[in-house]
Amino acid sequence: AEELMIRSEKMSVAGQLAAGIAHEIRNPLTSLKGFLQLLQAGVNREEAYHHIMVDEIEKIENITSELLFISKPMTDSQEMESIPEMVDDVVTLLQPQARLKKIDIEMNVINQNIKCDRSQIKQVLINIFKNAIEAMKEPGSIKISSHLKWRELRIDISDEGPGIPEEIIHKLGEPFFTTKENGTGLGLMITRQILERHEGKLEILQNEASGTTFRLILPAGDIE
Ligand code: ADP
Ligand code: MG
Repeated sequence: AEELMIRSEKMSVAGQLAAGIAHEIRNPLTSLKGFLQLLQAGVNREEAYHHIMVDEIEKIENITSELLFISKPMTDSQEMESIPEMVDDVVTLLQPQARLKKIDIEMNVINQNIKCDRSQIKQVLINIFKNAIEAMKEPGSIKISSHLKWRELRIDISDEGPGIPEEIIHKLGEPFFTTKENGTGLGLMITRQILERHEGKLEILQNEASGTTFRLILPAGDIE
Protein backbone atom coordinates (compact mmCIF):
# COMPACT_ATOMS: atom_id res chain seq x y z
CA ALA A 1 0.00 0.00 0.00
CA GLU A 2 2.86 2.33 0.82
CA GLU A 3 4.42 1.75 -2.56
CA LEU A 4 1.11 2.59 -4.21
CA MET A 5 0.92 5.82 -2.25
CA ILE A 6 4.40 6.89 -3.21
CA ARG A 7 3.76 6.08 -6.83
CA SER A 8 0.50 7.98 -6.88
CA GLU A 9 2.20 11.00 -5.34
CA LYS A 10 4.78 11.05 -8.08
CA MET A 11 2.25 10.68 -10.87
CA SER A 12 1.24 13.87 -12.64
CA VAL A 13 -2.20 15.30 -12.00
CA ALA A 14 -3.31 14.09 -15.41
CA GLY A 15 -1.75 10.72 -14.68
CA GLN A 16 -3.63 10.38 -11.41
CA LEU A 17 -6.90 11.34 -13.00
CA ALA A 18 -6.25 8.91 -15.84
CA ALA A 19 -5.44 6.09 -13.41
CA GLY A 20 -8.64 6.71 -11.49
CA ILE A 21 -10.71 6.82 -14.63
CA ALA A 22 -9.12 3.70 -16.11
CA HIS A 23 -9.87 1.85 -12.89
CA GLU A 24 -13.52 2.96 -12.83
CA ILE A 25 -14.06 2.03 -16.47
CA ARG A 26 -12.34 -1.33 -16.31
CA ASN A 27 -14.75 -2.83 -13.76
CA PRO A 28 -17.96 -2.30 -15.73
CA LEU A 29 -16.14 -3.40 -18.91
CA THR A 30 -15.07 -6.65 -17.28
CA SER A 31 -18.59 -7.37 -16.13
CA LEU A 32 -20.03 -6.47 -19.56
CA LYS A 33 -17.62 -8.85 -21.22
CA GLY A 34 -18.66 -11.63 -18.85
CA PHE A 35 -22.36 -11.16 -19.55
CA LEU A 36 -21.79 -11.01 -23.30
CA GLN A 37 -19.81 -14.23 -23.16
CA LEU A 38 -22.68 -15.88 -21.29
CA LEU A 39 -25.15 -14.70 -23.94
CA GLN A 40 -22.81 -15.84 -26.69
CA ALA A 41 -22.63 -19.31 -25.17
CA GLY A 42 -26.41 -19.36 -24.96
CA VAL A 43 -26.12 -20.16 -21.27
CA ASN A 44 -28.63 -17.66 -20.06
CA ARG A 45 -31.07 -15.45 -21.90
CA GLU A 46 -32.66 -13.90 -18.86
CA GLU A 47 -33.69 -10.31 -19.32
CA ALA A 48 -32.27 -9.43 -15.92
CA TYR A 49 -28.84 -9.55 -17.49
CA HIS A 50 -29.84 -6.89 -19.98
CA HIS A 51 -30.66 -4.45 -17.20
CA ILE A 52 -27.33 -5.03 -15.53
CA MET A 53 -25.56 -4.53 -18.83
CA VAL A 54 -27.36 -1.25 -19.47
CA ASP A 55 -26.38 -0.12 -15.94
CA GLU A 56 -22.75 -0.93 -16.59
CA ILE A 57 -22.79 0.93 -19.90
CA GLU A 58 -24.34 3.91 -18.13
CA LYS A 59 -21.49 3.93 -15.62
CA ILE A 60 -19.00 4.20 -18.44
CA GLU A 61 -21.13 6.83 -20.13
CA ASN A 62 -21.22 8.96 -16.98
CA ILE A 63 -17.49 8.83 -16.48
CA THR A 64 -16.77 9.86 -20.04
CA SER A 65 -19.23 12.74 -19.92
CA GLU A 66 -17.55 13.94 -16.70
CA LEU A 67 -14.32 14.09 -18.61
CA LEU A 68 -15.91 16.13 -21.37
CA PHE A 69 -17.33 18.47 -18.74
CA ILE A 70 -13.88 19.16 -17.37
CA SER A 71 -12.38 19.87 -20.77
CA LYS A 72 -15.15 22.33 -21.69
CA PRO A 73 -14.16 25.95 -22.12
CA MET A 74 -15.51 28.44 -19.62
CA THR A 75 -18.88 29.90 -20.41
CA ASP A 76 -20.99 32.34 -18.49
CA SER A 77 -24.27 30.51 -18.45
CA GLN A 78 -25.76 30.39 -14.98
CA GLU A 79 -28.68 28.15 -14.13
CA MET A 80 -30.22 26.82 -10.93
CA GLU A 81 -28.08 23.82 -10.03
CA SER A 82 -28.49 21.23 -7.29
CA ILE A 83 -25.75 21.48 -4.67
CA PRO A 84 -25.77 17.77 -3.67
CA GLU A 85 -25.77 16.72 -7.34
CA MET A 86 -22.68 18.77 -8.10
CA VAL A 87 -20.91 17.46 -5.00
CA ASP A 88 -21.95 13.88 -5.77
CA ASP A 89 -20.63 14.11 -9.31
CA VAL A 90 -17.26 15.32 -8.11
CA VAL A 91 -17.02 12.75 -5.32
CA THR A 92 -17.82 9.98 -7.82
CA LEU A 93 -15.07 11.22 -10.08
CA LEU A 94 -12.42 11.38 -7.35
CA GLN A 95 -13.53 8.40 -5.27
CA PRO A 96 -11.02 6.01 -6.95
CA GLN A 97 -8.10 8.26 -6.00
CA ALA A 98 -9.37 8.55 -2.43
CA ARG A 99 -9.81 4.79 -2.20
CA LEU A 100 -6.25 4.26 -3.37
CA LYS A 101 -5.08 6.23 -0.32
CA LYS A 102 -7.67 4.73 2.05
CA ILE A 103 -9.45 8.02 2.52
CA ASP A 104 -13.13 8.07 3.50
CA ILE A 105 -15.33 10.82 2.20
CA GLU A 106 -18.03 12.13 4.52
CA MET A 107 -20.75 14.21 2.94
CA ASN A 108 -23.23 16.45 4.67
CA VAL A 109 -24.57 18.80 2.05
CA ILE A 110 -27.82 20.79 2.07
CA ASN A 111 -30.44 19.83 -0.46
CA GLN A 112 -30.89 23.09 -2.32
CA ASN A 113 -30.28 24.69 -5.68
CA ILE A 114 -28.08 27.66 -6.37
CA LYS A 115 -27.62 29.81 -9.46
CA CYS A 116 -24.19 29.13 -10.89
CA ASP A 117 -22.27 27.73 -13.84
CA ARG A 118 -22.37 24.03 -13.08
CA SER A 119 -19.19 22.98 -14.87
CA GLN A 120 -17.19 25.82 -13.35
CA ILE A 121 -18.32 25.16 -9.79
CA LYS A 122 -17.62 21.47 -10.30
CA GLN A 123 -14.13 22.43 -11.45
CA VAL A 124 -13.68 24.39 -8.22
CA LEU A 125 -14.83 21.41 -6.16
CA ILE A 126 -12.48 19.11 -8.09
CA ASN A 127 -9.49 21.41 -7.52
CA ILE A 128 -10.06 21.70 -3.77
CA PHE A 129 -10.91 18.05 -3.38
CA LYS A 130 -7.83 16.87 -5.25
CA ASN A 131 -5.64 19.07 -3.06
CA ALA A 132 -7.26 17.57 0.03
CA ILE A 133 -6.57 14.04 -1.20
CA GLU A 134 -3.01 14.95 -2.15
CA ALA A 135 -2.38 16.57 1.26
CA MET A 136 -3.26 13.39 3.16
CA LYS A 137 -0.28 11.14 3.71
CA GLU A 138 -2.16 8.69 5.89
CA PRO A 139 -5.57 7.06 5.78
CA GLY A 140 -8.30 9.22 7.26
CA SER A 141 -11.29 11.18 6.13
CA ILE A 142 -12.21 14.21 4.11
CA LYS A 143 -15.40 15.97 5.13
CA ILE A 144 -17.50 17.99 2.80
CA SER A 145 -20.39 19.96 4.21
CA SER A 146 -22.44 22.99 3.32
CA HIS A 147 -24.65 25.47 5.08
CA LEU A 148 -26.31 28.84 4.60
CA LYS A 149 -25.12 31.77 6.68
CA TRP A 150 -26.41 35.30 6.19
CA ARG A 151 -27.00 35.39 2.48
CA GLU A 152 -24.12 33.11 1.64
CA LEU A 153 -23.78 29.49 0.70
CA ARG A 154 -20.68 28.04 2.34
CA ILE A 155 -19.18 24.76 1.21
CA ASP A 156 -16.44 23.47 3.52
CA ILE A 157 -13.94 20.83 2.48
CA SER A 158 -11.79 19.64 5.40
CA ASP A 159 -8.81 17.34 5.21
CA GLU A 160 -6.56 15.72 7.80
CA GLY A 161 -3.34 16.69 6.08
CA PRO A 162 -0.42 18.57 7.67
CA GLY A 163 -1.99 22.00 7.26
CA ILE A 164 -0.43 24.93 5.43
CA PRO A 165 2.67 26.66 6.84
CA GLU A 166 1.99 30.30 7.81
CA GLU A 167 4.74 31.59 5.54
CA ILE A 168 3.22 30.26 2.33
CA ILE A 169 -0.44 31.08 2.93
CA HIS A 170 -0.22 34.39 1.08
CA LYS A 171 1.28 32.69 -1.94
CA LEU A 172 -1.61 30.29 -2.49
CA GLY A 173 -3.41 31.11 -5.69
CA GLU A 174 -0.40 32.73 -7.32
CA PRO A 175 -0.07 31.08 -10.71
CA PHE A 176 2.44 28.24 -10.70
CA PHE A 177 2.96 28.37 -6.95
CA THR A 178 3.29 24.75 -5.90
CA THR A 179 5.11 22.76 -3.23
CA LYS A 180 4.52 19.50 -5.08
CA GLU A 181 7.04 17.74 -7.23
CA ASN A 182 4.50 17.35 -10.01
CA GLY A 183 2.17 20.20 -9.13
CA THR A 184 1.00 22.73 -11.69
CA GLY A 185 0.25 25.44 -9.16
CA LEU A 186 -2.82 26.38 -11.18
CA GLY A 187 -5.62 24.78 -9.19
CA LEU A 188 -6.14 27.50 -6.62
CA MET A 189 -5.66 30.26 -9.15
CA ILE A 190 -8.41 28.85 -11.37
CA THR A 191 -10.54 28.30 -8.27
CA ARG A 192 -10.20 31.93 -7.19
CA GLN A 193 -10.99 33.16 -10.71
CA ILE A 194 -14.14 31.07 -10.98
CA LEU A 195 -15.35 32.14 -7.54
CA GLU A 196 -14.73 35.81 -8.38
CA ARG A 197 -16.81 35.42 -11.54
CA HIS A 198 -19.57 34.21 -9.27
CA GLU A 199 -19.06 37.10 -6.86
CA GLY A 200 -17.92 34.59 -4.30
CA LYS A 201 -14.63 33.90 -2.58
CA LEU A 202 -12.32 31.32 -1.07
CA GLU A 203 -11.35 31.19 2.59
CA ILE A 204 -8.68 29.00 4.13
CA LEU A 205 -9.16 27.92 7.74
CA GLN A 206 -6.49 26.02 9.63
CA ASN A 207 -7.96 23.26 11.73
CA GLU A 208 -7.02 23.17 15.40
CA ALA A 209 -5.53 19.69 15.54
CA SER A 210 -4.24 19.30 12.01
CA GLY A 211 -5.49 19.69 8.51
CA THR A 212 -7.06 22.46 6.52
CA THR A 213 -10.56 23.58 5.64
CA PHE A 214 -11.15 25.29 2.33
CA ARG A 215 -14.38 27.26 2.41
CA LEU A 216 -16.08 28.16 -0.85
CA ILE A 217 -18.45 31.07 -0.47
CA LEU A 218 -21.12 31.85 -3.03
CA PRO A 219 -23.79 34.53 -2.83
CA ALA A 220 -27.07 32.77 -2.10
CA GLY A 221 -29.45 35.46 -3.28
CA ASP A 222 -30.70 33.00 -5.88
CA ILE A 223 -31.23 29.85 -3.90
CA GLU A 224 -34.29 27.61 -3.77
P1 ADP B 1 -0.91 22.21 -7.03
O1 ADP B 1 -1.94 21.33 -6.40
O2 ADP B 1 -0.66 21.86 -8.47
O3 ADP B 1 0.34 22.30 -6.23
P2 ADP B 1 -2.70 24.35 -6.25
O4 ADP B 1 -2.88 25.72 -6.77
O5 ADP B 1 -3.89 23.44 -6.28
O6 ADP B 1 -1.51 23.70 -7.09
O7 ADP B 1 -2.14 24.39 -4.76
C1 ADP B 1 -1.01 25.19 -4.48
C2 ADP B 1 -0.32 24.77 -3.19
O8 ADP B 1 -1.19 25.01 -2.09
C3 ADP B 1 0.00 23.30 -3.11
O9 ADP B 1 1.20 22.97 -3.79
C4 ADP B 1 0.12 23.10 -1.59
O10 ADP B 1 1.38 23.52 -1.12
C5 ADP B 1 -0.91 24.08 -1.04
N1 ADP B 1 -2.17 23.41 -0.68
C6 ADP B 1 -3.32 23.44 -1.37
N2 ADP B 1 -4.28 22.72 -0.77
C7 ADP B 1 -3.71 22.20 0.36
C8 ADP B 1 -4.20 21.36 1.44
N3 ADP B 1 -5.46 20.90 1.46
N4 ADP B 1 -3.33 21.05 2.43
C9 ADP B 1 -2.06 21.52 2.42
N5 ADP B 1 -1.56 22.30 1.43
C10 ADP B 1 -2.37 22.65 0.42
MG1 MG C 1 -3.97 21.36 -6.87
